[in-house]
Amino acid sequence: MLEQITNVLKFIQTTLIYIVYPPICPVCEEIVDERHQLCENCAKEIIKLDEEKPPAPISEVMRVTKYRKGTRRLLRALKFDNNTNVLNALQSILYGVSSRPEIDNFLAKVNLATYVPLHEKRFKKRGYNQTELIFKDWLLSKNVPAENLLIRTKATPHLYNYNPTERREILKGAFSLAEGVNVKGKNILIVDDIYTTGATTAGCAEVLKGAGASKIFVMALASDFGEDKIA
Ligand SMILES: [Zn+2]
Repeated sequence: MLEQITNVLKFIQTTLIYIVYPPICPVCEEIVDERHQLCENCAKEIIKLDEEKPPAPISEVMRVTKYRKGTRRLLRALKFDNNTNVLNALQSILYGVSSRPEIDNFLAKVNLATYVPLHEKRFKKRGYNQTELIFKDWLLSKNVPAENLLIRTKATPHLYNYNPTERREILKGAFSLAEGVNVKGKNILIVDDIYTTGATTAGCAEVLKGAGASKIFVMALASDFGEDKIA
C-alpha cells in the first residue's frame, strides 16, 4: 500500500515538474526561459559521437544527449512509471538539436532505422516501446524511414548490474529478424533510449548483419560515454 502511494506521488511529482512553472531544461533541470527548451550549455554540448571503437559490428554511435538529472528522471518515468506525460519533454531534446549539421551528416549515412525491440511480455506490461514513442515522429520529420525490423525472442533482465561480458552472454540469441524484413545491402540505424556498453545494440546489429545489412549505426537519446554513471 505504502509503495503504491509512493509511486502515485512520484508520478504526480514528475508530471508537475515538467508541466508547471518554472520551465526547466529537460537534460540538466536548470531553469530556462521557455518550456521544453534546452539550456545554453546542454544545447551546445549535447551531441557527441562515441570516440571509443563501438562493439562489432557497429560502425558509429551517436548520442543525442547526456544522461543527466533530467534525462534520467524523464526516461525512468516513461519506462518504469508508465508516465507518458513526460513524452513532450523527451521529444523536445530531439527537436532542440534537430537542425544541427552533425545530426544531418549522421542521418545521411543511413537508409532505414529501427528500434531496439522489447520482449512481448515487457511490451504488454508497458503498453509501448518507449524508444519508438520518443523517436518515431522525429525520424519522420528528418525523412528517415523507420520500421520494426527486429523482435526480442528472449526475455532478459535489466542490465544495470551486469558487466559488459555478462551482458553479451545474457543477450546471446535474444533478437531475431521480424518476418518479411529485407535489409540486404542497406545501412541500418538502430535507435535506443540509453546507450551504455553497447551490448544490446550490438546484439541487434549482429542479427541485421547476418541478414545482409551493409553498415550499422546507432543513435541513442542518452549516454554516458564514461562521463556519468548510468543507474
Ligand atoms: Zn541543460
